[in-house]
Amino acid sequence: MDDRPVLGLDADDTLWENEVHFRETERRFVELMAPWADGSTTEAALLDTERANVAITGYGVKSFILSMVETAISLSDGAIGAEPISRVLEWGRQMLEAPVALLPDVAETIGTLADAHRLLLITKGDLTDQRRKVDASGLADHFWRIEIVAEKDTPTYRDILGRHGIDATRFVMVGNSVPSDVLPVLEAGGRAIHIPHDLTWALETATDSDIDGHEFPVLRNFGELPALLTGWRDPG
Ligand SMILES: [Mg+2]
Repeated sequence: MDDRPVLGLDADDTLWENEVHFRETERRFVELMAPWADGSTTEAALLDTERANVAITGYGVKSFILSMVETAISLSDGAIGAEPISRVLEWGRQMLEAPVALLPDVAETIGTLADAHRLLLITKGDLTDQRRKVDASGLADHFWRIEIVAEKDTPTYRDILGRHGIDATRFVMVGNSVPSDVLPVLEAGGRAIHIPHDLTWALETATDSDIDGHEFPVLRNFGELPALLTGWRDPG
C-alpha cells in the first residue's frame, strides 16, 4: 500500500501562468469600452459583474467572457454592436487555446515532489479548460489524482479528503491563493503553503483580518518546496 503523504497542488498561477491571460484580455476590453467609459469605470464594472456571476456561472474563461459581454452591454446602454461583442468572443476563444506556460522551477521540481508524495491536483474553474491545461502542461503523469471542483472551500476540501481516504493531519496544500488554497485547508485540519504570484485576481486575495490568527509558510517560488517539506517530515 502506498502510504506516502498526499501533497495537494493548485494549478493556475501555482504550476502555470493563468491570470496574465485574463489581465491582457481585460486591457483590450478597457480599450474596447473607451467610447463609453474610462478604464477604472470599466474595470470596476467588470469586477462587479464577475463577482455577481461567480455563484451562477462559476470560475474560468467562459464565465469571464459572459461577464465581459454583460458589462459591455450595460456600460454602453445597449448601444454596443455585434462586431465588438464578436471580438470579445474571439478573445475568449484565444484564451481557451492559449499554450500552457509552466512557472519557474515547476518542471525541475515536480518529479522530486512526486517521488516523496502522492500529488493531488486540486483546481477550480471550467472542467473542459482545466482538463485541457493539465494535458497541455506535460505534467499529468506526475499526478496521483486530479480534482476539478466548483469551489475551493472547507466543505469541498473535507469532501476530497474523505473520498480519497486522506488523513487531514498529514495533508499539505500548496497554492497562490490564500482564500482558496490556504485558509479552507487549515480549517479542514490540514497544513498549507502559500506561494504568491505577482498577478492575483481581486477575488482571490485575502484581507489581513481573514489571515489574522492563521500561520502558514510563504515561499518565494516553487523550487523552495522540497526543502520545506523535507524539514516538516524530518524535523531535525
Ligand atoms: Mg491558483
